[in-house]
Amino acid sequence: MEGVIAHVDMDAFYVSIEMLRHPELRKKPVVVAHDGPRGVVTTASYAARRFGVHSALPMVTARRRCPDLTVLPVDMALYRRGSKKVMETLSDFSDAVEVVGLDEAYVDLSGSPVPQSRAREIKHRIRQATRLVCSIGLGPNKLMAKIASDLDKPDGLFVLTDENWLESVGEKPASLLPGIGPRTSERLRTAGIETVTELARAPDGVLEGAFGPRHGPALRELGNGVGSTALTTERARKSESRETTFPHDVTDRGRMLETVDALAESVCRSLAGHGVTGRTVTLKIRLTPWRTHTRSRTLPSATCDPATVVGVARELLERFSPQAPVRLLGVGVAGLVADEGHAPLNVGTDGRPENGEGPERDAPLAEGAPSGPGSQERLAL
Ligand SMILES: [Mg+2]
Repeated sequence: MEGVIAHVDMDAFYVSIEMLRHPELRKKPVVVAHDGPRGVVTTASYAARRFGVHSALPMVTARRRCPDLTVLPVDMALYRRGSKKVMETLSDFSDAVEVVGLDEAYVDLSGSPVPQSRAREIKHRIRQATRLVCSIGLGPNKLMAKIASDLDKPDGLFVLTDENWLESVGEKPASLLPGIGPRTSERLRTAGIETVTELARAPDGVLEGAFGPRHGPALRELGNGVGSTALTTERARKSESRETTFPHDVTDRGRMLETVDALAESVCRSLAGHGVTGRTVTLKIRLTPWRTHTRSRTLPSATCDPATVVGVARELLERFSPQAPVRLLGVGVAGLVADEGHAPLNVGTDGRPENGEGPERDAPLAEGAPSGPGSQERLAL
C-alpha cells in the first residue's frame, strides 16, 4: 500500500477507563451516563451492549433492558487525561495526526513499509501507556480507514483497500457510510438502493435523478469508498482566523469596525462548527506600505461566542487606533480546546454520529467535579 491512513478508535473509551478504577465491574453490564429521568447512555460496556444497551439510548430504556446495569457518572477530566496519553503515543508514530475526538484519531502511516505491523505496534504502545484497548482500521483514505476500524471491534485490526472494499462491506446497508443518515437512506431505498454495492453500482441516471447532478455522483463515490486523504493536524487547528484585504485602503473607522465584526463572526461560526473554543483573540492590521501589526488579548476562559469575540476585536482596534490607511484586517482566535458543550463536526449530515459512540463527545462538562471513589493515581492516567 502506498498512501496509508490509520483510523485509531478506542474501544468503549469512557467505560474502559472506568473499568481501570473499578476492576470488579469488568465483564459486567456497565454504562457511563448522566443518570436521571431524561438521562441517556454515554458509553456502554460490551457486556451491556449484549442486552441491547448502547450509547444515546435513554436511561429508562437501558434499565428496562438490563435491570442489573451499573451506572457510573461521567468524569470528563479523567477521560481527557486518558485521551492525552493516547494522542501523545500516536504522535510518536507520525507528524500527521488528526484528532477527531477524545477517543479517535487518524494517523498518516504513508511511507511505512509494513503498515499492518506499524498498526500492531500502535495498539501495543497504547496498551502499555494506558492499559486500554483500541481498534485500528487501515485504508488508502480516511473513509475506508474509519469504516475498517469498526469491522473488527473490539481490539481489532482491519485493512480495507480498493480491491476488498465491496467484498468486505458491499452487503452492508448504505447507511454504514458516514454522511448517509436516516433521511438519505430512506431516499436511497425509494430509489431501490439498500446496500453499499447497490450504491456503488447504481446505474447512471438513478442517483443523479434522485439526488441531483452533484450529490448523486458524490453518493456513488462514497459507495466506492472514495474519500479524502487530507489530515487536519493539531498544529493547523491551533487557531482559526479570517482576514480581508481591502480593494482600496480604508480610513473610515466605521467601515473597519464593520469588517472586524464580520470577520469575528465568521471565525466563531467555524469554531462552533469544529466544536472548539479559544481564549486568545488576535487582531491583525496591515497598514500601507506593508507594515503589519498584531494585537492580542487572552480571555479568562475559552469562547466561541460571537458577541464576546466581536467585543474584544473591536476594542483591540479602538486601542490600536490606526494612524494610517488600513490595507488589511484580520481576526483570529487561538489557544483552541475542545468544547464539550457543542457537537463537533464529525456528525453525519443527517445528524447521525459517525460511530456508535457519538454522544460521548457531547457529554456536558464534568471538569472540576469530584471524581468518584477510586483514586486516579492508581490509574496511571
Ligand atoms: Mg471509540
